[in-house]
Amino acid sequence: MRNATWFAPHPPYAAKGIGCFVEDLDGRQLLDCANNFFSLIHGHAFAPVVEAIRAAAGDGTAFGLPTEKEIALAELIRGRSPRCEQVRFCTSGTEAVMFAIKGARALTGRRALAKFEGAYHGSYDWVEVSLAPEPAAWDDESGNPASIGGSKGVPKHVLQDTVVLPWNDPDRCAAILDKQGSRLAALIIDPVPSRAGMVPVSKKTVEVIHAASEKHGFLIISDEVISFRLSYAGAHPLFGLQPDLITLGKIIGGGLPIGAVAGSARTMSVFDHTQGKPGVALGGTFSANPLAMAAGFSAMTALDEAAIARLNQLGSDLRSEINLSFIEKRIPAQVTGSGSLFRLHLTAKPIADYRSSRCGTPDALRQVHAAALEQGVLLTPNCSGAISTPMEQAHIDDLSTAITRAVADTFAVRGW
Ligand code: PMP
Repeated sequence: MRNATWFAPHPPYAAKGIGCFVEDLDGRQLLDCANNFFSLIHGHAFAPVVEAIRAAAGDGTAFGLPTEKEIALAELIRGRSPRCEQVRFCTSGTEAVMFAIKGARALTGRRALAKFEGAYHGSYDWVEVSLAPEPAAWDDESGNPASIGGSKGVPKHVLQDTVVLPWNDPDRCAAILDKQGSRLAALIIDPVPSRAGMVPVSKKTVEVIHAASEKHGFLIISDEVISFRLSYAGAHPLFGLQPDLITLGKIIGGGLPIGAVAGSARTMSVFDHTQGKPGVALGGTFSANPLAMAAGFSAMTALDEAAIARLNQLGSDLRSEINLSFIEKRIPAQVTGSGSLFRLHLTAKPIADYRSSRCGTPDALRQVHAAALEQGVLLTPNCSGAISTPMEQAHIDDLSTAITRAVADTFAVRGW
């Protein structure tokens, strides 16, 4: 079982999904905002995707040859952002991030990586650094956020080669990058990092990143495994970010396992194996799997500009409704987020970054998660969620009521 799908005393087991609902083994229907961790933008069993998978499966499930299906999905992605001139597929967001970092190392001849404190980018050792530092310390010598290993036993050199940046603190970022920039292969950024508060990147931070990248010659990797859904062309254009590489996953696979690295033809040439040994060999037995390619093509075709605008409006309405009812009921809590993404915080103090988003309340959030389940709503265990296309205004109203009630109940139980 994956880490994130277990919670005490035990999670309900999923029996089947129907649109924006998931039905458990007891026959109970839950309004699903977790959507397998933001990967099902059309909810469950979306008919065109089911049909696409069925048809693809009938033609064979995997080949030791390329297929037209991978060309079709790559062209669809390329048509959405000029920064995605070339696309290579793998099987997960973790792999996409790993290949992008290896690509940056091969291109620059450098080892080190910069990442933001609290930001999640999958399970590659370097990006796990300071994902959830407890406590979130400062490095005594440099005064930067300390590099703290994600897993026990992580080699020391991984920590030394991972520079941790404070989220949306452009002055401190500029100072750190000035010192460390010349040893960086890349800086990885999720423009709306879900685990670091789900607060969008500031304009000033983007400017600092661009200036440092220009001066020191490191690559910018925009990790849009979740945030690609924010606009038709992904997250980077929304925030004026000009990445060298973009990592994708989740929604682009229509619910099947997928990852992708995208970038300009020049940058992506590091993976080119047709002219001899490539800088980085991008392998994977199931990379560009035809079922995932077909499901992704179908899901992304249905996700046009109008569908995204509608989702983003529903997301904005949900955040406003919940925040308003917290104010009306004098509950010191808030939701942050962007577009169709939202995240709950049990404090009324402004959320700026990983440190302010922790608020010392992980067990209270677990209680809210359980209380939301009681109300028939499935959030991720740390109380974030996403809107999917089968949702209507009535679902948004139900969600707002259920989440407000779950938080109010938790506060009452804890005597807050
Ligand atoms: N990057 C980001 C921003 C993510 O949110 C995730 C997964 N939640 C990943 C990378 C890793 O993706 P996967 O779980 O497909 O390995």
